[in-house]
Order: sequence, then C-alpha cells, then structure tokens
Amino acid sequence: MAEHASITLHGAAGEVTGSCTLLRTPRGSVVIDFGLFQGTPVDERRNLQTPEIDWPGVDAVVVTHAHVDHCGRLGMLPALGCDADILCTNVTADLLPRVLKSSANLQGMRLDEWKTGTAPVARVVDPPPPPATTPQRGEIEPPVLYGMRDVEHVLHQIRGMPYATWRTVAPGLRVRLHDASHILGSASVEVEWEDGGRQRRVLFSGDLGPDASPLLRARAPMPDVELVIMESTNGARDIPRTTAGPQALGEVLARVSARGGRLLVPTFSLGRAQLVHYRLAELARAGRLHGMTVYVDTPMAVRAAELVGRHPELLAEIPRRMAEAGNDPMEFDGLHKVFNRRHSLKVAAGTSPAVILAGSGFLDAGPVLHHLASLVSEDRNAVLFAGHQLPGSLGHGMLHGARAIELKEGIFEVKAERVHLEGYSGHADRGDLLAWLRGRAGGKPRVVLNHGEQATREALGRTITEQLGLEVDLPKAAATIAL
Ligand SMILES: [Zn+2]
Repeated sequence: MAEHASITLHGAAGEVTGSCTLLRTPRGSVVIDFGLFQGTPVDERRNLQTPEIDWPGVDAVVVTHAHVDHCGRLGMLPALGCDADILCTNVTADLLPRVLKSSANLQGMRLDEWKTGTAPVARVVDPPPPPATTPQRGEIEPPVLYGMRDVEHVLHQIRGMPYATWRTVAPGLRVRLHDASHILGSASVEVEWEDGGRQRRVLFSGDLGPDASPLLRARAPMPDVELVIMESTNGARDIPRTTAGPQALGEVLARVSARGGRLLVPTFSLGRAQLVHYRLAELARAGRLHGMTVYVDTPMAVRAAELVGRHPELLAEIPRRMAEAGNDPMEFDGLHKVFNRRHSLKVAAGTSPAVILAGSGFLDAGPVLHHLASLVSEDRNAVLFAGHQLPGSLGHGMLHGARAIELKEGIFEVKAERVHLEGYSGHADRGDLLAWLRGRAGGKPRVVLNHGEQATREALGRTITEQLGLEVDLPKAAATIAL
C-alpha cells in the first residue's frame, strides 16, 4: 500500500480519449475509468499497451459514464487479474452490458473485415485528401482487446449505486457519485480517505455537461475537495447553445420538408442522440414535424431513450414533469424505432420525407453509411451534424466542403445540404467549466486538467489561474502527481 497519496493519468492526458486515472492512497487504490483510445488505426493499437497498475491490488474501479472512451477497456480486466468491484450509477450499470458486448462484437468484426479486406469505405475523394502520414484503416491490423467471455466475466463485477451516497471500498477509503449531467447516468467521482486522523478528499469530474441541458437536470455543484481532476474537452471556446434550441432544428425540418427531402442525422448513440430525439419530440408535440416520419436507427439509442422515460428524477424540469405524469417525454406520433439491419435497409430504400438518426457520429461505419449513400447526391436532402467532427473522418470532410465521397456503394457527388448545429455538444464549454469551479462548495482546490487537446488544456489552465486564482497542473501521460 502506498505511503503517500498520488494520482497518475494513464490516458486522456493532452488528448480526448483513453480515460484512465489511478489514485493511490495509504488506505488503498482506486482506478477511475478504463476507456478506449480512439481515432486513427495507430491510436486504436495503443489500447494494447495496458497501464502499469498493480491491477490485482486495485480496491475498486469507478466508471464515470457509459461512453467507450471511459469504459471501453473494462473487458480487459479479467486478463489483467483485476476482479475488483466496478462501481457506477444505476443507469450506467444498465447501459454497460450493452456497450461492452457491442464493443467486443465490433472488435471481432473489424478484425474479420481486415482479414477479408472488406473494411467499410467512407472517404472524401474530391477534393483529394492530402497523402496520409499514418497507416489508414485496412492497412494495419485492428486490435482485439477482449472477447464476449471476458465481457460476461466483467458484468458480474458491476455494482450500480445511487448518487450522493458514500460507499466504502476499503477500510478508511470511500467513494460517492455526483450527477455530471453529461449523459443520462453520468457522474463525477469523489474519493475520501482517512490519513493520520484527517479526512482527505479529491474529485474526478468525468465528462461534464453544459450549464443548462433541455433534457437532463442541472449538474451537481462541486464539493469541497483539496484537488479536482477536471475535463477540458471544450475548455478553450464558448459554444452557441441556441443552435440546439427547438427553433434551429424546426427551421431545418421546415426547409427539408418543403423540398420533399430527407434529413440524416449522424449521431452517437448515447447522449447526442437523446438530445436530438428529445427536440424532435418537442417539435412533434408542437405540430412542427411537417409530416416527417422520424426513425431512430441504432438499438443503443433506442434503449437509452427508454431509460430517459424511466428516470424522471434525472431530468430537467419540463421532461421530468411529463414523465412523472406518465407521459414519456421521448415518445410521439411518427416515431419509429429500428432494431435490425433489414429494417434499416428498408428505411434507406424509402424516399418519403423523413428524419433518420443513425450511428455512427463520425460517418465512419454503421447504418449511417447506407442512409448516406441513398440520399447524399440529391439536393432536396440534408445531413445535419450535431456537434464536433473528428479531423480525418468522413464527417469532418463532409462539413468542410467535400464535393464527392466514396462509399461501399460507389462514388457520390455531394449535393445534399449540410447543416452544422454545434450546440448539441454534451460537453461543458469554457464558461460552463469556469462556472462549475466558481460554484464550488469551498476551499481553494488544486486543479488538474485532463481529457482535452494540449493547446486547449493550456488555454483553459491560464484562464482558471487568471480568473479564479487556482493552481493548475497539466501532467503528461503516466506522470504521477503527489498529494
Ligand atoms: Zn463522454
């Protein structure tokens, strides 16, 4: 057991994926998140190098939320000899089995595609992209980190717990969760331990949601701690949230519907999909769907939407009141849920006015690609990007003026309208992060920034020191901070 307490960032240090942080204390050790590195095929192979942690000696793994960049490596725990409890909120415990099984499936599928040379084609061809400096998909073997049997094993370790309730993980060491309002069930993790007669506390923010979400209740205020590890994804900019209001989406629907077209929304299944879905439900109730049918074409997003209706206590006031009165805020006339590929292909073959929410969010794989093939070359249609696009992805290329793209079905001229409504981002922006720190329960905590690009961390760090007078650390990956 450690003589002094320390924190080590094993991922998401100067980047936005691969979250994994170790807290060692004289009372025991806790790992916060064990997520996937995502991005290029080279980034994906980094997942094979597991953090140097005494895994069998870990007292608990705490998962902040069900996004794969925070939980996607949990399936590796059996091979690492870690059978500690995996603690998370009850909603996250409900989502994790699906997320981990889907991740195991996807890893197997990616390997098969690589072996057979059938990886999906999804790229910009005009303007021609600059020559790649790193291996592209299909040129490098994708890693298989764990299989379904590992996932089954890990599922027995998951323990859902309520918010705001302490749970002892070792004598003198306990944790509690606070609502982070990033996606349904997301949490910040407070850890407390006893050290020579005094209580010491640190907080891991996890991903934080914006100040005001139309769907989720407000974030919990930051508790009184000596140190906070805070995410900084959007920490260098202020996001215009009005673009996530019903007005902006309503105008897009009116325009596309007047042309008799279809609107495709590439989306991530957890978080972003529910926000857009909820706005569509609001518009439906206001009679402003303009006769368009809405398809939600990813089983995970369908499941997450069901959880919204079942957890009124986690919602913003308007949807909460609806849910408490027995009216599911996510249900409306004209909503169709798509559960399998056959149904999805049938939807893609249709031409009647419709809104289609489909994964993946970066337009790199999944059902969204056959929808894109069916509608991208007609100018009556539109593709709506609800948030950030990863540089190098087809989504990023589409947003930045691609004239022609190549998909499995062939080469397509891009004639569909492109719309960018970045207000749907589920991450707090600079103002939100500062407000969260400012509203803290007390004290002058040391701030450690993670989960942000290096330039973003630096900019936010300067702002925090200037405006709030707090000391800020930007540790490199695997560097240890003494407490
Ligand atoms: Zn997240």
